[in-house]
Amino acid sequence: MPIKVLDPKVVSRIAAGEVVERPASVVKELVENSLDAGSTQISVEVRGGGVGLIRVMDNGAGIPSGEVELAFDRYATSKIGELADLEGIESLGFRGEALPSIAAVAQVDIVTCTAGESVGTHLSLKDGVVVNRGSQGRSPGTTVTVNNLFHRVPARLKFLKSPATENSHIANVVSQYALAFPEVKFTLLIDGKAVLRTAGSGRLIDSVIEVYGLEIAQNMVEVDSQDRGWESGTVVSPPRVTGMAGSPAVSRSSRSYLSFFVNRRWVSSRMLAWAVEEAYHGLLMQGRHPVAIISISLPPEQVDVNIHPAKTEIKFQNEHIVFGAVQRAIRQALIELAPVPKIEEVATAYVSPPSAPRLWTSAGGGDRPATSPSPTYPTPVVSLPLLRVLGQLASDYIVAEGPDGLYLIDQHAAHERVLYEKIKQQRSGQKVEVQGLLEPVTLEVNPKQDAVLKSHYEDLAQFGFSIEPFGDRTYLVRTVPALLHNKDWVGMVRELLDSLSGGDWVESIAVSIACHSAVRAGQSLTDDEMRELLRQLEQVTMPHTCPHGRPTMIHLSSGQLKREFGRS
Ligand code: ADP
Ligand code: MG
Repeated sequence: MPIKVLDPKVVSRIAAGEVVERPASVVKELVENSLDAGSTQISVEVRGGGVGLIRVMDNGAGIPSGEVELAFDRYATSKIGELADLEGIESLGFRGEALPSIAAVAQVDIVTCTAGESVGTHLSLKDGVVVNRGSQGRSPGTTVTVNNLFHRVPARLKFLKSPATENSHIANVVSQYALAFPEVKFTLLIDGKAVLRTAGSGRLIDSVIEVYGLEIAQNMVEVDSQDRGWESGTVVSPPRVTGMAGSPAVSRSSRSYLSFFVNRRWVSSRMLAWAVEEAYHGLLMQGRHPVAIISISLPPEQVDVNIHPAKTEIKFQNEHIVFGAVQRAIRQALIELAPVPKIEEVATAYVSPPSAPRLWTSAGGGDRPATSPSPTYPTPVVSLPLLRVLGQLASDYIVAEGPDGLYLIDQHAAHERVLYEKIKQQRSGQKVEVQGLLEPVTLEVNPKQDAVLKSHYEDLAQFGFSIEPFGDRTYLVRTVPALLHNKDWVGMVRELLDSLSGGDWVESIAVSIACHSAVRAGQSLTDDEMRELLRQLEQVTMPHTCPHGRPTMIHLSSGQLKREFGRS
């Protein structure tokens, strides 16, 4: 066949396929339009799995009579005007594709009226072409009715699942937007039955009750990164993370109870799911997944939503910062309600189960109803509570206050732990940070050290040491691990070679690098350095011991302090 430009009808059918994959996509686009129009009430009605009928009715701004036809033109939108606007999208829609795409694969009727108009406009379209126009009375807002979806696209129709499955996708879309917009009153009618009704109270917990039910709602804790003031002290401010996270007692067998909203857009993101799961690290049994509703707010220019016509995929300018912010915000919410490790647990807190896990039985403290006794679940790892630095003691210890008493943290041991985990992680990810030396340094070793080094400089290379033989018991060192730059790495290598006799080489090297690069005892630290160290310690998997197995901290609970002062 010769090459030719496709007929506009074929083009719109192809394009529609990307936006309107199934009935739930129509619901999503129409609900997004209603939300963009500032509606406070949105009602969705479907029949026959959405193939028979989809109707979305709102009380938003409406479309002026003169612009209704235009709204059905491809790439016609009121939401962005010029190229630069693409960099800072604040509305849910912006591509001007939804209405024409829907009209290309269904029969569409729209009745719309703006606040300034005395009468509304009615338009009917068949195969994307206007077949009827008229006036119709209605209060300000818009009603879009979609009939016979995919009637003329048999291939797509065949591909659809049962009406029940399509209904469940539709219910999910409306539920997600009900969670994203608690201030909007949503109603969903499926085949005449009301399956969802939210109050529009503006409180997320009310939407959670409607969407997930009371049992889950009672086991949710509030998440808000701003409570913690994490914004300060970093170069790029992390996004604000808000929402609710479920206790491990309500874990689920799939990830379908994870909702993410970025600037209120419902998105799917493996990175975000991973950040949440990381926050629950050690709290859930293998194969179980948390319930969480997480909203991320950040300047629109820091996120690209123009990845796919369906607009559910996004790209963050700085993934890494978003990941950290989400993980920390949730972790903190969980930890604050979790039991604090006591002094006798300090050394072993990561293996011994806390006796009475408070969070899982009465979420949120006093104001929410307690739930029924929680089922048994695996030992949660009790990580560090949030600590506030009070000062440094004898240039050796950080004195900090936690939710339950006083903490004395051994700065060297704590930093060793942080670096040790970082080193291991970098090595396994083959992302070791290396420092090249201005000039190669010659390293002379004794015969015993020589024997050890000969068989192991490959292992050392995995950690960033580039060492090569250079004559008799002499080696040339060209690079060292970045962590050891300006540190006594020669001493470290000698010590390592002396101490090594069999055993786990890789482990010994990691411990040795951590030990030699960590802050020393006796080194005075600024407040910022201490805060940063504690923040990093919060992130590690075993904060309570150094890699040699010694405790990193001692905890005196408020109770112990009172007893010591005879005030019990
Ligand atoms: P987009 O949402 O990307 O702008 P659409 O095809 O979904 O593209 O809608 C085209 C235009 O029609 C929108 O920009 C908006 O001006 C108008 N519109 C669509 N639905 C509604 C609604 N429910 N209320 C008010 N205006 C609407
Ligand atoms: Mg739209």
